[in-house]
Amino acid sequence: MDVDGDRFRQLMGRFVTGVSVVTTLDDGRPQGITVNALSPVSLQPPLVMVALDRRRFIHPMVRELGRYAVNVLGEGQQGLSDCFAHAAVKPGELGREDFCGAAWHEGPTGLPILDGAIAGLECTVTETYPAGDHDLFIGRVDALDDGGPAAEEIGPLLYFRRRYLRIEQAAHADVEGKPEA
Ligand SMILES: Cc1cc2nc3c(=O)[nH]c(=O)nc-3n(C[C@H](O)[C@H](O)[C@H](O)COP(=O)(O)OP(=O)(O)OC[C@H]3O[C@@H](n4cnc5c(N)ncnc54)[C@H](O)[C@@H]3O)c2cc1C
Repeated sequence: MDVDGDRFRQLMGRFVTGVSVVTTLDDGRPQGITVNALSPVSLQPPLVMVALDRRRFIHPMVRELGRYAVNVLGEGQQGLSDCFAHAAVKPGELGREDFCGAAWHEGPTGLPILDGAIAGLECTVTETYPAGDHDLFIGRVDALDDGGPAAEEIGPLLYFRRRYLRIEQAAHADVEGKPEA
């Protein structure tokens, strides 16, 4: 049975995700792209997976360096999400070619970590799997950045029905199923 691509995208948009910027280095210069196809895949060893369309400008850079960082965006970072997804920039603003003018620092392994991100993970690519028009980059997590005490209080930037979503009032509930580990 043929599945309609637009309908697939529409329905997958009902699966809420966070928004991250995957960063890497190209000839020593920081580069970044907005992604939501991100998943933790293993706890021991700690592994994550990022799915990148093979046409993305950053794809060959991640392949060549074999390392990337995941920067989980907070609710106030929608502008960075748009910029790293190559939105047109207003006059006087810095675009993706200039790392969106974002404040960042080097993590312990030298990868760019965005200031204000609520979590940063520096990864080494251990496996790459082709999957349709994307490649799945499995990354072993080498270093963690918790964003400092301020990050504890910041909500996530969410993506739902192909729009941004913020949690106005968190309603926490305990998980009764067995959590991982
Ligand atoms: C919330 C959200 C989640 C997303 N999740 C994902 C995801 O999980 N996976 C995914 O693959 N995409 C995802 N995207 C899409 C992705 O962020 C954008 O499509 C992408 O940033 C567009 O950039 P591009 O360079 O690939 O394509 P374009 O901006 O259309 O550029 C086209 C081509 O121009 C050239 N080019 C552009 N910029 C440069 C540069 N700086 N240096 C050299 N050449 C360049 C490259 O050849 C590139 O392929 C997401 C977008 C959003 C908004």
